[in-house]
Amino acid sequence: MKILVINSGSSSLKFQVIDSETEQVLARGVCERIGIDGIFTYKTSTGISIKESVPMQNHTQAVHTLLDTLVDPEKGIMKDFSDIDVIGHRLVHGGEKFSGSVVITDEVIQAMTECNDLAPLHNPANLVGVEACRKLMPNTLMAGVFDTAFNQTMEPKAFLYGLPYWCYEKHKIRRYGFHGISHKYVSQRAAEFMGQDPGRVKTIVCHLGNGASISAVKYGRVIDNSMGFTPLEGLVMGTRCGDVDPGALEYLAKKENLDFQQIMTILNQESGVLGISKNYSSDFRELKDAEIKYNEKAALAREIFAYKVAKYVGSYAAAMNGVDNIVFTAGVGENDSDIRQEICEYLGFLGITIDEVKNRERAEAVRISDGTSRVNVLVIRTNEELEIAREVAAVARKMGKQ
Ligand code: ADP
Repeated sequence: MKILVINSGSSSLKFQVIDSETEQVLARGVCERIGIDGIFTYKTSTGISIKESVPMQNHTQAVHTLLDTLVDPEKGIMKDFSDIDVIGHRLVHGGEKFSGSVVITDEVIQAMTECNDLAPLHNPANLVGVEACRKLMPNTLMAGVFDTAFNQTMEPKAFLYGLPYWCYEKHKIRRYGFHGISHKYVSQRAAEFMGQDPGRVKTIVCHLGNGASISAVKYGRVIDNSMGFTPLEGLVMGTRCGDVDPGALEYLAKKENLDFQQIMTILNQESGVLGISKNYSSDFRELKDAEIKYNEKAALAREIFAYKVAKYVGSYAAAMNGVDNIVFTAGVGENDSDIRQEICEYLGFLGITIDEVKNRERAEAVRISDGTSRVNVLVIRTNEELEIAREVAAVARKMGKQ
């Protein structure tokens, strides 16, 4: 099956065409600056590479651009839109309704719309991508994979806050956890790489990107995830604050005369390593360069980040009563060997020892712990698009598609 995977954000739309049998990426690209001006980047497995300005007023035009390119006689990879068997959408928040992947129907769109308030930055943007595809390819099967779905195995002891129970009953205020597509792919790839049965291992996945989360995956099921009701809880991130005492926010609001919206802007966009480094950067590469030049706040931001990751890893090792694999993934986790080293130094009590040469290797999957380490420490490149393609291929097969 040829699967078009769409990851639609507020002003960008990433896509890949994947052959589900060979798992080869036939084409990939991104429509950026939608609604502003429009930049289109596209690459194929046959060696075609394009980056050009293409006016894109909205997501429908972005989907038009990518579809036209896919069937273009010179740049394309297929004759006709009908060569696409399924479209798979990354969907962020499925609330408690979705614990697996689904065929996108009017009912699913309705249920997702009801979750919009839970993820106001992400869900509406996902839905715009879904609607744009529906308009242009009304007869193609569409399936959705939720970022919250893999985390739905968390038990009440992990997902409930210490709030009055009616907050959950009446408003579904609970921890949902995010990055599930990545956590699922990476935890399973780690077991495969190590030749383990995923149903018998305890894995902690550290998805450290601009947004960052950690999950505890015990015997193939998520038992905890550091993100909460929204993707704001947990680690210190690029621009997001992670865990903060709500009491401090009330105090700050009073002292600075801020309303809730202003406080949320600070927490989402002006905090994390960006805020700690006094607005130096949210990019870990730039922070590292600044640290080398003795920028104290940049160094502090990286130190706080690493410390917090180590604390979560330690607590998840306790939650699972042990850990077999610790896996680093996403932009920072895959590329920043110094941060990995720093985090692992805190984890010596787990019997972890790192091979410094391996830690600097770059590969799709690599074990960076040495032969004496009691826990396997791995770096694995995440591949959310492939995970989505696998999931929607399974959904399509259930619908009778071959
Ligand atoms: P997201 O998908 O959440 O936007 P990514 O997983 O793409 O995030 O990670 C982006 C982040 O990865 C960048 O902000 C940058 O800090 C970090 N990053 C990318 N490459 C490197 C590198 N070579 N060294 C350190 N950090 C890196």
